[in-house]
Amino acid sequence: MTELPSAPLALHLDSAALKSNWQWLARRSGDARCGAAIKANGYGLGAIEVMRHLKAAGCRDFFVATWREAAALMPHLGDASLSVLHGVRAEDMAFARGCPVRPVLNSVGQVARWKAAGGGPCDLMVDTGMSRLGLDPQDISADLLEGLEIETLLSHLACADEDHPLNAAQCALFHDVAARVPAKRLSLANSAGILLGPDYHFDLTRPGLALYGGVPRPEAAGHLAQVVRPRAQILQRRTVKSGAIVGYGATFRAPDQREVAVLNVGYADGYLRGFSSTGAALADGVRLPVLGRVSMDLLIVDVSQVPSLGEGDWVELDYDLTLAAAQSGLSQYELLTGLGARYERVWR
Ligand SMILES: *Cc1c(COP(=O)(O)O)cnc(C)c1O
Repeated sequence: MTELPSAPLALHLDSAALKSNWQWLARRSGDARCGAAIKANGYGLGAIEVMRHLKAAGCRDFFVATWREAAALMPHLGDASLSVLHGVRAEDMAFARGCPVRPVLNSVGQVARWKAAGGGPCDLMVDTGMSRLGLDPQDISADLLEGLEIETLLSHLACADEDHPLNAAQCALFHDVAARVPAKRLSLANSAGILLGPDYHFDLTRPGLALYGGVPRPEAAGHLAQVVRPRAQILQRRTVKSGAIVGYGATFRAPDQREVAVLNVGYADGYLRGFSSTGAALADGVRLPVLGRVSMDLLIVDVSQVPSLGEGDWVELDYDLTLAAAQSGLSQYELLTGLGARYERVWR
């Protein structure tokens, strides 16, 4: 077998930035332990590598959404704790009972299912106002919890990224519920929740976005480092004559002669069409504006300012998460989790 050709697009991933973001969040979590949400393939960066680097930084409490995600991480778990946020469906039970990963039980039905299989170690989610996952506080009784060994009682904040009255209300309700639930640890805060202050920290925090360099609240600006830098190779350089159109829909017409580069990346890689005519690539600090629409596998940028760039050269996409979110209309979460499978993920 001959070797596979290299990928023409790559994510450069900065493990030191990931670790320093976790360390900052751990300090901001005060006396609480700081965990990590690594669902959705570690927010697009690669869950196995993310877990490996965060474990090296000292993180021991990890969260994924599904059992498939947990299964991929199990060989790398070591002494760390892993919880599955979506709990257990009937079809998860055989797998879930046979492994050291805990379900986060979310409903009366899931609690019954876990108890019927013998109960034991689990986490429990209570809904304090988001109306998403979790038990209704009214449904929690000593009877219901009998036979469970609740490691962590969780709830999730709906508006932690804003100064919203629901934050304090959810926090107060979480205190009420916690008084009635025999859990070893309490956990409420996501990334933004950590920055709401010590009242929100309890025993364990669960940041996701901020680990990966996303800015969950203005207080974090300047403290978090960019972890992911998407890069793409130039497939072709060409001259576009004055008056010619560029890309699908002819949304850009060159007002004068331009030099363009066609890059090996597109919306199928998560660089969505919201970046059309607003995004940019970077070459040695020079901004290369996106011209016209993003294609599925291709992107056209203006390289008139950089005569030296040609076929085979690599450029970086400008992926500063807050700026890219403003340019594209995507959330920082979408910018991360949309990063596709065609990128080679290169950690350093
Ligand atoms: C995704 C998730 C988190 C992490 O949220 P961020 O906003 O990314 O910090 C924490 N807790 C739960 C229950 C989640 O689903």
